Amino acid sequence: MKIPILDLQLQYQQLKSEIDGAIALVLESTQFVLGPEVQKLEQEIASFLGVNHAIGVNSGTDALLIALRALNIGEGDEVITTSFSFYATAESISLVGAKPIFADIEEDSFNINPESIKEKITPKTKAILPVHLYGQPAKMAQIKEIAEEYGLKIIEDCAQAFGAKYYGDCLGCEQKCSDAQRNSIEGKYVGGIGDIGAFSFYPTKNLGAYGDGGMITTNDDDIAELARMLRVHGAKKNYHNEMLGYNSRLDSIQATILRVKLNYIKDWNQARQNIARKYNQLLGNLKSIVVPSFSDGHVFHQYTIRVDNGRRDELKAYLADKGIGSMIYYPIPQDQLPVYKGQYTPNPISTQLAYEVLSLPIYPELSEDKVQEVANAIISFYD
Ligand SMILES: *Cc1c(COP(=O)(O)O)cnc(C)c1O
Repeated sequence: MKIPILDLQLQYQQLKSEIDGAIALVLESTQFVLGPEVQKLEQEIASFLGVNHAIGVNSGTDALLIALRALNIGEGDEVITTSFSFYATAESISLVGAKPIFADIEEDSFNINPESIKEKITPKTKAILPVHLYGQPAKMAQIKEIAEEYGLKIIEDCAQAFGAKYYGDCLGCEQKCSDAQRNSIEGKYVGGIGDIGAFSFYPTKNLGAYGDGGMITTNDDDIAELARMLRVHGAKKNYHNEMLGYNSRLDSIQATILRVKLNYIKDWNQARQNIARKYNQLLGNLKSIVVPSFSDGHVFHQYTIRVDNGRRDELKAYLADKGIGSMIYYPIPQDQLPVYKGQYTPNPISTQLAYEVLSLPIYPELSEDKVQEVANAIISFYD
């Protein structure tokens, strides 16, 4: 591909000496798992996000799994999440023995619809698990109000949204929440808004390691302590295991790479926003596509358009022919995957958007010329 959907080479080449140097120090130290580098990363991320605790784990999936366990969610419980996400979201709920219940999404944000959450609450509901999809915060003020009203916990899936900030639900929203609720979280980073946050450092994410990695965030001391135990086989003290846990330790090489990259994440997220704004300018007038809604806290992990008239796959092939990469996140809503065959009635908006979404190349190093080239190709498709 002339313009791939993601190019990790450019970033590594820019940071090569810094990253290679940091890795060499870890190799010299022979402290390969957890240890001082992971501790420093945890402190730096907690301070960056403004949360009391950050706990490094093996992946974003493990972060979700341990978050659910730390909230004591399991057999007999229901957790309401979005139809429209990567399967790790629902899988983690199923893996702890709880039942995922799928709310529908909003057309304009691709995120979970608070009204749909309300409709799915039953006496078994224990928690809401919103995903900040593509880097855009979900409607957290409304979600918090619902959680408070029904006594539910909130687990934020922040895998695609490191550095995203919540700036109000107000744009086009008819479900008005109280000013107090909105003000209490206005301008906050995701991961510090619900009871617990789960991040992924998979290499393709906005803050990506060079292997698997993840992080749990919380302001609650007890939840943090449980999460720390769960990542090391349920033990506070070595060889004194108190519960079934996991081997989910973050390794020090990944931590040291992430510490280097953390210094750049604000600039990178800003660059993604600039690219998204440019795309929106160039593509906003096309009648047959819908460009994503733009908000200040959105970190554009993906830049995702909606393609009308059933022409999505045709456009994707046309772009590929011109050497331009694009991807479909996601072709099938989570609840309609073969793993849950026949268990759930499809949600209409999620079903529709699964046929329409197309994610275009976006990464901080993508030049303006290339953004223009991608836009030109799409414009020429409709000529
Ligand atoms: C990537 C991702 C995960 C899983 O993270 P891993 O680190 O790959 O385990 C979970 N949820 C969402 C929304 C993701 O995009």
